[in-house]
Amino acid sequence: MTGTARTAPRDWLVDGSLAPHVDETPPGALYRAAERGELALPFCLSCRLPLEPEQRICDGCGGNAVSWEPVPLRGTVHTATLVHRLEPGLVRASAPYPVLDVELDSGHRLIMTTLNPATAAPAVGETVTIGFRTVGGVRIPAAVPAAAHSETTEDRP
Ligand SMILES: [Zn+2]
Repeated sequence: MTGTARTAPRDWLVDGSLAPHVDETPPGALYRAAERGELALPFCLSCRLPLEPEQRICDGCGGNAVSWEPVPLRGTVHTATLVHRLEPGLVRASAPYPVLDVELDSGHRLIMTTLNPATAAPAVGETVTIGFRTVGGVRIPAAVPAAAHSETTEDRP
């Protein structure tokens, strides 16, 4: 037993040992914003093109100045996969689970699973809002399909 056995909620999908390293840059900015309930993603400071979290040079203008900014917690399912993986110890789910490529309203694309356990993937084109799972004390983006809103327990400020 480690000394970090706090009352952090257990993620439905993976073990806390798989938590990302919050202090790593640049993706650390994403996790620090997530602690505040915000989704922050990088834009090119020169031409405002949405960038990948690890991207350092803009595809549009060649600029190398990046601005991490909060974006709307909303997107559309671009691709959806139902993963069949049984790996006791790291993956808690014993049933297939969805992995989504979400195109956010900001123009960014992020890979994520759903906020709550789901054994079916949402449809491509379906609108999702973005919530946050907690893995090992780290909040990471997760999708809430529009069709599932009535059955979730999102905490809103
Ligand atoms: Zn640019």
